[in-house]
Amino acid sequence: MTRSRSGILFVLSGPSGAGKGTVCGALMQRTPELSLSISATTRAPRPGEEHGENYFFTSRSEFEEKIANNQLLEWAEVYGNYYGTPRDFVEQKLAQGQDVLLEIDIQGAMQVKHHYPTGVFLFLVPPSATELKARILGRGTESEESFRKRFGAARQELQMMREYNYVVVNDVVEAACQRIEAVIEAEHLSVKRNLDLLLDW
Ligand code: ADP
Ligand code: 5GP
Repeated sequence: MTRSRSGILFVLSGPSGAGKGTVCGALMQRTPELSLSISATTRAPRPGEEHGENYFFTSRSEFEEKIANNQLLEWAEVYGNYYGTPRDFVEQKLAQGQDVLLEIDIQGAMQVKHHYPTGVFLFLVPPSATELKARILGRGTESEESFRKRFGAARQELQMMREYNYVVVNDVVEAACQRIEAVIEAEHLSVKRNLDLLLDW
């Protein structure tokens, strides 16, 4: 029997500095069948970041045009900049049966949850507040004001974990990846996604 199923939409959020970018990067190396959506943002590139690889870096007016043209699946203003998920990429990959991973903030994830209730929502947390502080500072990319915004938001953001399906502690990157892969595998085996197996009986 040939089965044609659409892909699963996985959404990963978590406080700034939890290691979302690092874990997603490692996951892409390990799990090539998963497609990572590249977001548009009005934030300035950090040293080493590439247009089209880390983000599509856009002006505010370009971003507002994308909103007006309904080209974004979700968007939000985060720490003073716009971020959003290009709609076409996600819809095409899912229709082709490929799983897609979005690494987006909580506001965006809640919009996705509303429109894609079959999506799977994962929350990445650091092992402790002290470690989170060390990671944001250790990354060395934030001004003092930006650090305060990001670290200050973390406590409230953690409360939103309740809205997600799975929580993944990012103690060691490889271990966090294994946990996410376990979720991906389990979701593929869930009964509600396999009801077509009953069709021939
Ligand atoms: P986010 O995307 O959630 O803001 P990053 O991926 O930029 O976080 O990670 C923040 C900092 O923490 C980076 O310097 C990164 O190298 C480091 N980091 C990420 N995961 C771990 C980990 N498991 N152990 C130690 N350092 C980590
Ligand atoms: P950073 O500036 O550290 O790369 O990202 C800041 C925040 O924006 C992170 O919480 C990240 O998950 C979030 N983010 C990145 N891309 C998107 C997106 O397309 N949509 C939304 N809503 N948030 C995003």
